[in-house]
Amino acid sequence: METHYQILGVPADAPFSLIKQRFQQLIIEHHPDKRGSSLPSTKNEDYAHRILQAWTILRDDDKRKLYDTQLEVAAHKEKVTINADVDLDDMEYEEQECVYSLMCRCSGYYVISENDLELGNDVICCDNCSLRIRVLYDVVEDDD
Ligand SMILES: [Zn+2]
Repeated sequence: METHYQILGVPADAPFSLIKQRFQQLIIEHHPDKRGSSLPSTKNEDYAHRILQAWTILRDDDKRKLYDTQLEVAAHKEKVTINADVDLDDMEYEEQECVYSLMCRCSGYYVISENDLELGNDVICCDNCSLRIRVLYDVVEDDD
């Protein structure tokens, strides 16, 4: 998914004057009514629409700020990566506490309780570093 900045081909910290300049260039280049365009007009229409959308957001200071925040949140979400998939059978089961644990390579621990698993949580954060693992397990369903 391209950002509004990518659509206009400007850096995310571009000054308003540059954004305006790029918008004006692009909207002329990709205007659907333009003759002799290299793209089929439907494609141009679509692109022109996205250019306009980007411009509507980025020309407005408040809207741009809000959009920047959304981008940031999205970027953070993408940073949450799973470092490994681990079979539940490979984890240590602590009967007394009803938790599964596994030592991380930083010598911290991944710990997940049976309750978490039952609730469908399968991603565990190391208690010492920022690594995460996903636990693979078969859901055992009781036959009534
Ligand atoms: Zn760790």
